[in-house]
Amino acid sequence: MLDLEKRKSKNKSKKITIIRHCVQIISFVFFHYVILELLFTINLNVFEGVVKVQPFLSSPRNSLTDGGGIVEFMFYFFTQGTFPLLLIGVFVLLILLTNRFVCGWLCPIGAIQDVLSYIPADEKTISYTTHQRLLKIKYFIIILLILIMVSLWISKIANEEFYESYKQSVGLLGTRPIAFFSLSEFLFVFLPDVVANIFLTASLAPIFADFWSFFAFFFYMIIIILSVFYPRAYCRYICPFGALCARISKYSFLKLTRNPVKCVGRQECGVCERMCPKQIRILDETFEGFYGEGECNLCGKCLEECPYDAIEIKFG
Ligand code: SF4
Ligand code: SF4
Repeated sequence: MLDLEKRKSKNKSKKITIIRHCVQIISFVFFHYVILELLFTINLNVFEGVVKVQPFLSSPRNSLTDGGGIVEFMFYFFTQGTFPLLLIGVFVLLILLTNRFVCGWLCPIGAIQDVLSYIPADEKTISYTTHQRLLKIKYFIIILLILIMVSLWISKIANEEFYESYKQSVGLLGTRPIAFFSLSEFLFVFLPDVVANIFLTASLAPIFADFWSFFAFFFYMIIIILSVFYPRAYCRYICPFGALCARISKYSFLKLTRNPVKCVGRQECGVCERMCPKQIRILDETFEGFYGEGECNLCGKCLEECPYDAIEIKFG
């Protein structure tokens, strides 16, 4: 059986992975309009109005945006005392229609983690119980943020004076809610600043400027190193966008299904589970659709690698 598996796996085309990586590269360039500006020597500030209302993934914080993505914009509006009904509607609809396609195919931070996972190293798996426990970190983060944002929103409506002092007391959380938990913010805003200052001061002092700089630097460096061994470590355990998506994606119309006639099961095969970068127990889920408790990002690896073509994509 193993020979059959190997032979079939070997013959499988990597078409999905190649297409996905091409889409990721295009998306990386387009969502980071700073790169577009460099490539084509244009000034995209003229599109400020448009970018402000379509803030899906524009990561580098600059004059064009107050946020780093649709979730940060939603939270930002809460902090300003506005209920972002339209953005919430767009976000929910997006997940219902496309599941976590954005995470697997478009997100620049996902792409960076995928590149890291290609660094030759012994890929490791986390024990199921530990993995389940770690998954809760991102829910803890998002619940904390929601509590702060919603209370800011209510206080803005109820008592302007209290709102001002409350907002001041939560500091940067009141204006850049996701910033502390965003690898994007770290890579495209914080790190370039720190590196520039290191060159300017010819010392490592900028890393130790204050407790939070020090903490953020080492925390995200550890996450980046972990991503080499544990694919998509940040997506799995920290990403606030991922946390919200995971809760909605199990209701998505777009899903992966497993054909019970073709699938030979874990004992005979189990290739799909071994290939899944998110450690999803595909074979424990229903044939009609598996989501990995919302963790599946539709990367397509299981579909591509299944030696028996038992996995299919379905809408509806
Ligand atoms: S879905 Fe495919 S890869 Fe997974 S166990 Fe079944 S046959 Fe094997
Ligand atoms: S279940 Fe399949 S599509 Fe989903 S993350 Fe795992 S390998 Fe990718």
